[in-house]
Formats: sequence, structure tokens, C-alpha cells
Amino acid sequence: MPEELRFDGRVVIVTGAGAGLGRAYALLFGSRGASIVVNDLGGGRHGDGSSSSVADSVVKEIRQNGGKAVANYDSVVEGHKIVDTAIKTFGRIDIVVNNAGILRDKSFAKISDQDWDLIHNVHVKGAFKTTQAAWPYFKKQKYGRVIVTSSNSGLYGNFGQANYSAAKMGLVGFANTLAIEGNSSNIYTNVIVPTAASRLTEDILPPDFFKELKPELIAPVVAWLCHENCSENGSIIEAAVGWAGKCHLIRSAGCNLRKKMSDAVTPEDARDNWAAVTDMTKAKRCESIQEASMEVFEVLKELQENS
Ligand code: NAD
Repeated sequence: MPEELRFDGRVVIVTGAGAGLGRAYALLFGSRGASIVVNDLGGGRHGDGSSSSVADSVVKEIRQNGGKAVANYDSVVEGHKIVDTAIKTFGRIDIVVNNAGILRDKSFAKISDQDWDLIHNVHVKGAFKTTQAAWPYFKKQKYGRVIVTSSNSGLYGNFGQANYSAAKMGLVGFANTLAIEGNSSNIYTNVIVPTAASRLTEDILPPDFFKELKPELIAPVVAWLCHENCSENGSIIEAAVGWAGKCHLIRSAGCNLRKKMSDAVTPEDARDNWAAVTDMTKAKRCESIQEASMEVFEVLKELQENS
């Protein structure tokens, strides 16, 4: 029997934990010994209204299963209040799962400022506020795990979701930098890209597919990413139906549009070399901003040497 992964003594915030994916995460962490702050403002799927009942019912479920949990009804936009609940109730914070989310789907031309701002506030500012409030505790204890929730809509685009896609890719950039800033303090940040049956997807996914997309099949991947034995940091992990895979940006080998230093670059040079610029056969991932810049410096060096 392999050793069970436990979270005894750990305190976990799961935002938007009153339903869908967040509920599944909270129940799993709760069943593995963690104390959970079940955050949910209990609003509608478009960010309207509020109610304490969804968070309360998940807290009740966790406690009925023998776990420890407390409810928090604040919006993630006031994430410091969620962290305060963790500290006041359990005395520490170890893991933040930024999961709360809403949709305001409209075709691009029809997106209002309100549709844009609300989506960015809940997804991006919410993750910023909640994680930033937990950060000093993570730094001090030299331990922390952060999950942000992206979407295939961000990674690949999706009709009618320009606001949501932008916010979800914003979170990837956010996580990339937190992974760098937290690394030396044993604070690891990763991105989960789920596909699951929930109220956000009930009218989007075909019914036969929908019923197979259980959030419980994604929660174990999130739990592992948050475990102290997991050293994954700065990764994008897609997960659905019990499958999980890593995803990253790759760059083509590219093509130098200049032959010597004194050459200018014209639009025609770009046109005439476009097949080489976009040839992905030797594409690779740059591990860091330094590596990405260094390769460009190498091109410059080569040009200087040949001139
Ligand atoms: P869901 O609607 O079932 O759950 C989201 C929860 O977040 C709700 O209970 C809601 O009340 C809560 N919430 C909304 N705004 C909040 C706020 N300001 N503060 C606190 N809580 C708030 O949706 P879900 O499908 O479980 O989505 C969870 C996350 O996963 C979201 O970030 C969503 O964008 C993302 N996601 C889901 C899918 C999918 O297939 N379900 C795909 C990609 C990304």
C-alpha cells in the first residue's frame, strides 16, 4: 500500500469552494487532515448577488466527514479578509487555491467596461489580493503552495470569452513570476487548467460529455501540486476526466532577418523569411527570461563577428 499523502496541520484556503471544482478541492483536503477555509460569496454565475448558504453547506459536509473547516463569505477581491479568517481560526496559512470564478460571456464587440472589469477583478485581482495577503506567512515559515486557475479559453481562445480569456492568461503570467519570486523560500505556484462539469459549463458542454467531467477527478491533481513533497513550480497542468498533462509555450528556432550589422530590416525581409520564422520543427521551450534573451544576444554576437 503506497503511503497516503496527508495534509495534517496544514491550513488551506480554497476560494469559490461552495460549488463545483472548489467544493471538490475543499472536501479532498478536508479528508486528508487539513483545516479548510471554505470561501464563497455565494453569488450567481455572472457575479450577481450573494449568500452564505453554499459555503456553509460545504463546511457542514467537511465536518460531518470528521474534518475541520470554517466558512468565509468575502469576495476574493478582499482576499486579505479570507487570510484573516485562516489566521484567526487556525493560526496559520499554508496553501492558497485561487479558484473562485464567474463568466460574462459576450462576443468581443459587445463586451462592456463592466463585463471586462468584473471578470478581471474576480479572477486576477482576487488571486492577487488573496495570495499577497498569505505571502508574508509563506515567506516566514519557508513553505507555501499556490494554485491559480486558468482555462483552455485563455490558452487556446474561445468565441465570446475575450474578457475571460485575457484574465485567464493574465493568471499564467502572474503564476510565472510568483514561481520565480517564491522559489528560494519553498513557495511553489502552479496553474491548473480544468475541464469539469459545473454551473459554468452546464450549457456549454454536450450532456454525455458533461456527466463524465467530475470535479473529483481533478481535485487529486491539485492536492498533489499542493503537497510538501511535490517540487513542481511554475507549471501549467491541464486536467480532466482523470487525465493530466503539462503544457508550455514553445518558440521556433527563428531566423535572422539581417545578414550583417549594417543591414536594415524591411517588411519584405519579414515576408521573404516568414516560412523560417514560423518553422516549428525545431521549436523549444525557453526555461527563463534570461535564456530567451541570451539567444537573441547570441544572434547579435554572431552578426557582429561576421561584419
Ligand atoms: P462554479 O460556478 O461551480 O464555482 C465557482 C464558485 O466561485 C461559485 O461557488 C461562486 O459563488 C464563487 N465565486 C464567484 N465569485 C466569487 C468571488 N468574488 N469571491 C468568492 N467566491 C466567488 O464554477 P467552476 O466550474 O467550479 O469554476 C471554478 C474555477 O475553474 C473558475 O475559476 C473557473 O473559471 C475555472 N474553470 C472552470 C472550468 C470548467 O470546466 N468548469 C474550465 C476552466 C476554468
